[in-house]
This record gives sequence, structure tokens and C-alpha cells, in this order.
Amino acid sequence: MATPMTAAQFAAALRAEGCTVVEVGDWETHNRNHMGPWGPVHGVMIHHTVTSGSARTVEICRTGYASLPGPLCHGVITKDGRVHLVGYGRANHAGAGDGDVLTAVINETALPADNEASTDGNRHFYGFECENLGDGVDPWTDAQLLAIERVSAAICRFHGWGAGSVIGHLEWQPGKVDPRGFSMQTMRGRVAARLDGNQQEEEMALSADDKAWFEGAIKRLVPVAVLTTDGIIDNPVKGSENTHISLETSVRNIEIVARRTEAKVIGLGAPSISDAQVAALASALAAHPALADLIAEKVATKLAARLAS
Ligand SMILES: [Zn+2]
Repeated sequence: MATPMTAAQFAAALRAEGCTVVEVGDWETHNRNHMGPWGPVHGVMIHHTVTSGSARTVEICRTGYASLPGPLCHGVITKDGRVHLVGYGRANHAGAGDGDVLTAVINETALPADNEASTDGNRHFYGFECENLGDGVDPWTDAQLLAIERVSAAICRFHGWGAGSVIGHLEWQPGKVDPRGFSMQTMRGRVAARLDGNQQEEEMALSADDKAWFEGAIKRLVPVAVLTTDGIIDNPVKGSENTHISLETSVRNIEIVARRTEAKVIGLGAPSISDAQVAALASALAAHPALADLIAEKVATKLAARLAS
């Protein structure tokens, strides 16, 4: 038993869950409230549209048909995962369904078979139509499934419901097959995991600008802090009175050793080898590849001995 959110709360809850929300026309006041009650709300219902083309799908769900006037839901989830708000309040999406199912949704218990069309669903369910042909072939995109997970979790989070409050039209009204192409049981698992993990609350705690500022600050400040903090690594110089030194000091020591070595290498001078000797060496190496290892080893040994002197 819950009082429906206001339109503003509804849009805010979806955005807070990470949904990309598109507000279409006068959605906040476009509804069927003159035809019957809206609320108390008990759950979220998912549908497929049997349409293709996002713009056309959104328009159909907003205006409906002569025999079934719009809005046909609250939000339309297109293939790209965007959630288009087309109406708010009582909407023509759920129709008459099974009262035992409603009881199970309220209690969040296992759903019985939907074999009665005795209870007004438009009064009690938030509804989302999803752009899909519903032929079992038209693919459901990852973005779309994620959006379904998010809108469901957003509403459950607001009302303090669990994933058991999320059902498909096919679980409500006899003869309905939507949504077709994914399992509502699997989707309820995703919604439950999201509600458990509270992922979106963490993600949405910072605005994009704030995040960018913090990331920039961390990139600037952390290296400085690491480099200038003393006592973070073992001092490789044994017998020094400082057993630990900063990374900055260590880098400076390495730099000094590298410069000394560089000076020694320059001081060794280049050996004189004629072009003919180089050519002879190259052909010998080509004939006997194993020579290369041998020569490299000898050069390394001699170089080490001269640098040490
Ligand atoms: Zn439906």
C-alpha cells in the first residue's frame, strides 16, 4: 500500500537510479485519471510494444489508439535504453488482471497463475512499455535491459519494496505474452541485486562536474603526497641512520647512480673498427647465429670490468 509518487518525484527517482530520462510534452498531467482511480500503488509492470522505430513507438504510447486512448504507460524504454516519460497518473497499460496475483505482489510471495481478469491493474501499477516486436526474435539490447532494471529498482527503492513487486504483463492478465524475449524471473534477480548493492546511490552521489574535479585533484595531489612522504620504503643503503626513506629520495639516488654510469660509459671512448671488419663480422654472424650470444656475453663482461675500474 503506497501513495503514488508525484510526477517530479518519479522523474527524480529514475534519474537518481542512473536512467537517461526524456520528458515528452505534457507528460506530468497526461493521464486517464478522469476514467478511474490512480493508487494506491503496489508494483511495477513491464510490457513490450510490438512496434519498431523509437520515435513512432514513443508517439503511439503517448497518444494510444481510438479503441485504447493514451497514455499507454508512464515510461517508454527505447532500444537505446532511454526512458521517455509520456504520461503520469492512471494509464492504459495493465488492464484487468488476477486479484490473487495482486495479493502476491503486495506480499512479495511467489506468483500464482494469472487465470482471472477481475482486478483493475491501471490503478495499482507503474507501467513501462519497451520497444520490441515481441516475436521472440527481435533482440533486447543490453541498454534496454539495464534501463528496465533501473526503473524497476528506482520505484522499489522509493517505496521500500523488493524485487517481488516487479512483474510482467504476462504474469498479470490472462492471454498476455509480454514481455517476450527475456525472463521476468531473471530481471527480478537483477533488480534484487541492484537494490542489495545500492550501486546507483554511490554512483549518483556526485555530479559529473564534481567527479571530474575530484579525479583531477587526486591525480595532482596523490603523486605529490607519495613523493614527499618520508619513511615509506626501505633504505637500500645499509648502515645509514635512516632505515626508511621517501620515494623522492630513492629516485634522486637512482638518478645520481645513473649519471655516474653515463659519465663512465662516455669516458670509455669508442673502439676503432673499420668498415671491412664490420662487414666480416656481419657475414660471420649470418653464417653462425650462435656467435651473437657469445659476442654479446664477452662485450658485457668486458664492459662491466671497465666500468667497475
Ligand atoms: Zn502489455
